[in-house]
Parts: sequence; C-alpha cells; structure tokens
Amino acid sequence: MVSMETITSLCKRRGFIFQSSEIYEGLAGCWDFGPLGVELVRNVKEAWWKNVVHQRDDMVGLDASILMHPQAWVASGHVENFTDPMVDCMRCKRRFRADHIDGENCPNCGGELTEARQFNLMFKTFIGPLEDEASQVYLRPETAQGIFVNFKNIIDSMRLKIPFGIAQIGKAFRNEITVGNFIFRVREFEQMEIEYFVKPGTDEEWHEKWISNRSDWYLQLGIRKENLRCRPHEEDELAHYSKSCVDIEYLFPMGWSELEGVASRSDHDLSVHAEHSKKDLNYYDPVAETHYVPYVIEPSVGVGRAALAFLIDAYSEEEVAGRKRTILRIHKDLAPIKAAVLPLLRNRPDIVQLAREITHALQKEFVAVYDDTAGIGRLYRRQDEIGTPYCITVDVESLDDRAVTIRDRDSMQQIRVSVDRLVETVTEKLKS
Ligand code: ATP
Repeated sequence: MVSMETITSLCKRRGFIFQSSEIYEGLAGCWDFGPLGVELVRNVKEAWWKNVVHQRDDMVGLDASILMHPQAWVASGHVENFTDPMVDCMRCKRRFRADHIDGENCPNCGGELTEARQFNLMFKTFIGPLEDEASQVYLRPETAQGIFVNFKNIIDSMRLKIPFGIAQIGKAFRNEITVGNFIFRVREFEQMEIEYFVKPGTDEEWHEKWISNRSDWYLQLGIRKENLRCRPHEEDELAHYSKSCVDIEYLFPMGWSELEGVASRSDHDLSVHAEHSKKDLNYYDPVAETHYVPYVIEPSVGVGRAALAFLIDAYSEEEVAGRKRTILRIHKDLAPIKAAVLPLLRNRPDIVQLAREITHALQKEFVAVYDDTAGIGRLYRRQDEIGTPYCITVDVESLDDRAVTIRDRDSMQQIRVSVDRLVETVTEKLKS
C-alpha cells in the first residue's frame, strides 16, 4: 500500500492539495485544493449528487446557510455534548484526544497526562459589532441540522411523501483537538450528508439499504473491495437516541478508519427541534391516515476524506521497459483532466495549430488540456501520474491524413482516429 507521504508529496507536486497559508508556515488542519484538486473534488461531489439526488425519485437537494440560529445547536445537543475528551502531557506539553491514545502515558514522550477534560469542538463567532454572548453564533460542525430545520419547508413546498430524503453538500468546521494524516482529519472540511425520512418500523430495512447503496457507490467508482468494510458501532459508541450506526471504513495507510458513517437516528432530531422551536414537525401520512414524527437514516461523509481514499486506491507504480511508471488509475468520472492533447513537434506551427484546434473542440465537452512543455515520453508520464484517461498526440502525419493517436492510460494501447470523429470517440470512451 502507498504511504501517506507519497500521496502528500504527489498532491503537492502536481497541484492537487497545498497546506493552507503555507508561506506563513501553514495553518494546522486547513488545506487548499489546487488546480487539479479542485477538479477532483468537484467530480466527487458531482458523482455523489448524481447518485443520491438526480438518479432517484425520492431525494431532493438543499443548500442551507453555515450560520444558524444558536438555539438550533442547543436543541441538537451540540452545545452540551459535541465534545471530545482532551488530555495534556505535563512534560512535553503536547495535547491529545484521550480516546485516540492507548495506555496511561504520553504517546510522544511517555510523560504523565492530565485528567481528561471535555472540549467543545464548535467554532464560535459573533453576528454584528458587539462581541457578547447574545450575538454569539457557531460555524456549523455538520450540515445535518440545516436539513432538520428545513424539514417542514421542504415537505410543504415539494409535496413529498415518506420515504424521502434530503441531500446537502457544504462546509463544516470542527475545532479538532488533534489533526493529521494529511486531509483525513482537518478543522475545515466539506460534508456530503443525507437525511432519509422513513416510517417508524421500516427504519432497519432502510438502514440496511443505505449501507449497501453507499458501499456500492465507492465500489462503482473504483475502490477495491478488499479495502472497504462495514463496522457496526459497539453499544458504548452509540449516542443514547441512536438505534444503530455502521461505519463504512477504508484501509487508509494508517489502518482501517472511518470513511463514512451511516446512522439510524430514530425520531430524535426532529423531536428535539419540535420541542425547542415549538413548531409542529409531525408528518401526516395519507396512506396510514395518521400523524407521526418520521425516523431518519443519516449517511454522512467528508468530501476530502472520500477524495483521499480515491487517490490512495488509484495510486500504483509499475515498471515499463525498465523504468518506473507512476499511474493514478482513478475512475474516469473522477479524473481531474479527461484528455490531454500533445503535439509531437512543438516547433511546427501547423502541428501546434491543429493540436490547439483539437483541444478547443474537446474542451466544449469535458476538461481537456494542451501541453507541449516537454518531450512526448515525459508528457505521457505527467498525465499518467495525475490520472488523465486519454492522451491525444498530433504528429506530422496528422497534417496529411487528419488523424491522431489516442493513448489509453491503463493499457497504454494506442489507436488512430480521424480528427472528425475524435470528440465523439473520446466522449464514448469516457462513458464506457
Ligand atoms: P470522529 O469520531 O472520528 O471524530 P465522527 O464520528 O464524529 O468522527 P461524524 O460526525 O460521523 O464523524 O462525521 C461524518 C463524516 O464527516 C465522517 O465519516 C468523515 O468522513 C467526515 N468528517 C468528520 N470529521 C472530520 C474531520 N475533522 N476532517 C475530515 N472529515 C471529517
């Protein structure tokens, strides 16, 4: 398995991910997606949205604000309970999350640790010019509560019938005690969350369906089966209202870790918001002719964490003709660049012109780039390393036969295609 250092270095070198504010020594737990990273992340979100919203009849989308009424976080229990236990080393002064360390002593220097204190992970800020308690609000630590507080707006405006779900992608902020493993645990991240509302009594069946639906999504996008597993939470890991929770885990370089949580949360969230807001959040079931508070299934994943898993799983090194070839065998839907057009001779204006024309034609359909900054061997290697599925070379013969070569990233096989059929051919290949 590839090491996290190798992935981190590839991501920096090839413009996927940079440390935030790097020229000022960086800001811990914050990362910036560079030119290729932003394309990858857009593709991850697009693939998710297509799968859970556009290709289903029972799902709708939402984009709620990051700042919410502070009472929403009192009702949800985050003000009181969204805490992690924190310990400090009395010798080296390092700080740790108590439930992330084994044994009684400091994992860094073996020193004595303080008693664990509960630390609330929500970032606070203020609305308006006065920085007092009355104006204090939170940067949301999850997108889910924005969905619950809009439950009534959505059923009233969209005339939805249970079972149905609401999906949302958006930023979340957590003042994590410790961050690390590259973008695995960060303080500012994007989440992709679903709240799927069901009739009480059908929740177990829907929980199972969502676990398998979400696991399949990773497999369809190329994650290897042996690197994905489901782990049900132990009794003592569950919140008191939670009926059950299953983590979809990925075999990251540091070991099996949570990629996505799929929780079955009963009617807890809607009930507490109904109680605190004094609004009726019951659902009238026209089939059963009765009112009830729906139960909810919540699949929740971090965009960056998913992108990291896709990168790790796609990374491979192989030897071709005695030379190392680094290749990102990432799914075509996720690849930041779909095709690169490479002129064989960059000092021939007629070849360059044809290559530029071809690039512009391809760019109307998908992300395509032109590159003539090195010899063909090096250009191929660069595109392999960033996972570009197809390289198109324009050579001297192309001027006569109006045909170009398409090289496949994975098999390195080449086919000759007429320029007139190029866009169509590559589009078809990207879909297959
Ligand atoms: P942990 O116990 O590891 O702190 P959690 O169980 O509280 O995490 P959830 O609240 O279930 O995490 O978050 C849902 C998903 O959001 C996670 O599966 C993960 O993909 C993502 N996520 C949560 N916290 C972070 C973070 N600090 N950095 C990156 N992604 C995160």
